[in-house]
Amino acid sequence: MEEIVREKVSVCWLRRDLRLFDNSALYHALKSGFPVVLVFVFDKHILGKLSDKTDKRVHFIHQRLQEINAEAQQNNSSLLVYHEVPKMAFSKLISEYDVQGVYTNHDYEPYAIGRDQEIAGLLKEKGVSFETFKDQVIFEKSEVMKPDDTPYTVFTPYSKRWKEGLYKESVPVFPSEDLLDNLLKISPKKSPSLADIGFEATEFKVPKPDFSEALLKNYHNTRNLPSVPGTSYAGIHLRFGTVSVRQLVKMGIQYNEQWLNELIWREFFMMILFHFPHVEHHNFRRKYDRIPWRNNEQEFELWCKGETGYPMVDAGMRQLNETGWMHNRVRMVVAGFLTKHLLIDWRWGEAYFAEKLLDYELASNNGNWQWAAGTGCDSAPYFRIFNPSTQLKKFDPKLEYVKTWIPNFRADYLPEIVEHSFGRARALETYKKALNQ
Ligand SMILES: Cc1cc2nc3c(=O)[nH]c(=O)nc-3n(C[C@H](O)[C@H](O)[C@H](O)COP(=O)(O)OP(=O)(O)OC[C@H]3O[C@@H](n4cnc5c(N)ncnc54)[C@H](O)[C@@H]3O)c2cc1C
Repeated sequence: MEEIVREKVSVCWLRRDLRLFDNSALYHALKSGFPVVLVFVFDKHILGKLSDKTDKRVHFIHQRLQEINAEAQQNNSSLLVYHEVPKMAFSKLISEYDVQGVYTNHDYEPYAIGRDQEIAGLLKEKGVSFETFKDQVIFEKSEVMKPDDTPYTVFTPYSKRWKEGLYKESVPVFPSEDLLDNLLKISPKKSPSLADIGFEATEFKVPKPDFSEALLKNYHNTRNLPSVPGTSYAGIHLRFGTVSVRQLVKMGIQYNEQWLNELIWREFFMMILFHFPHVEHHNFRRKYDRIPWRNNEQEFELWCKGETGYPMVDAGMRQLNETGWMHNRVRMVVAGFLTKHLLIDWRWGEAYFAEKLLDYELASNNGNWQWAAGTGCDSAPYFRIFNPSTQLKKFDPKLEYVKTWIPNFRADYLPEIVEHSFGRARALETYKKALNQ
């Protein structure tokens, strides 16, 4: 009997890089000399942890995969979508195709690192190479280090060195979009529906990203005003790689250094999580473990619902609950209020944001929460406590933001759940006592 010779292929495993243009792993796969199979795995480990079965981020990924599949089909190929734990997905894939190598982009979160080690081991046993690339950042892991080769824990010198590195080399491009002819020619494959993976569709709007010259040039003037659409809404797109960070960084260089700095903060926190993975569950500074959080559940619930009696805090939480996004200035105010005025463990607030934010990113969420609580690297000193009413006067003096999210707002609004100067004094006393033990 004649033996069926299966075609040798390369696999490009898409994860948080959901685009076919300027994609580093895809570019290298398409140049490997073998036709490329595009693969995505709806990871049962990750999906199983999401309690809200209408999670908008799953819906967003699902939509984006359909677009990628359509693009692949225009090139006579198709995207293969598995709903499995990754190891099982790869076992199936290897049995179905003669895979020579798997190409994928780096992911720096502790779970992802463990997952990739497991897949690398499985592939090695089967004689398949596992090629991984930098894609979601400009500088990763240990590429920006102090002169003594230890990681930076303070932003300003890190960003200085980051920029020196950037200006020494030009930002690379990986024009994968020009090579899509090298995708494996296969008939269109059916991918699972949202219902097949245990989720439901709900109406939602992803804020439209704005990378226009007009917005970026004015970013430093508008970024702190929550009533103005003055930021780029890049978050969810950076999270799932529907934009290329390299293209964004070039815009930052061209139009606005302040905006570039924000993109560097993102990389800073990714670098911190990579080098100090304990921050995922613990204080960066261990002596803050001694803080006796009050953790009052009723107060936490009022904070979540936006009923603290502080208009800026409440407007922010309502914006988050309704849209999955909150303005950065207000994120700082609500986080400071929770950890200082209410003395509730930052991990509670972090978990709530993780559930709700469309742009949720473990490294940035964790880094910013620890910054607000004073427990993180390069945090504001604990004794700097935002006054939510002063913040309101400064950044929303005409109450435009507040009235958008609390439409029936009046001067005799809800009573404050804690009086500012009392809460401030209590926080100072608690932190001081814990740290001086
Ligand atoms: C308590 C708290 C939690 C936060 N959680 C997240 C999170 O889960 N995911 C997230 O991406 N950002 C988080 N941020 C940072 C920031 O609020 C958002 O990145 C920003 O508001 C998103 O809006 P934008 O995309 O319009 O940002 P822009 O202001 O246009 O900035 C462009 C991009 O720069 C990055 N960036 C901006 N500010 C920061 C920052 N302080 N730290 C790290 N990266 C930054 C983001 O990728 C952002 O999309 C958090 C901030 C606070 C105070």
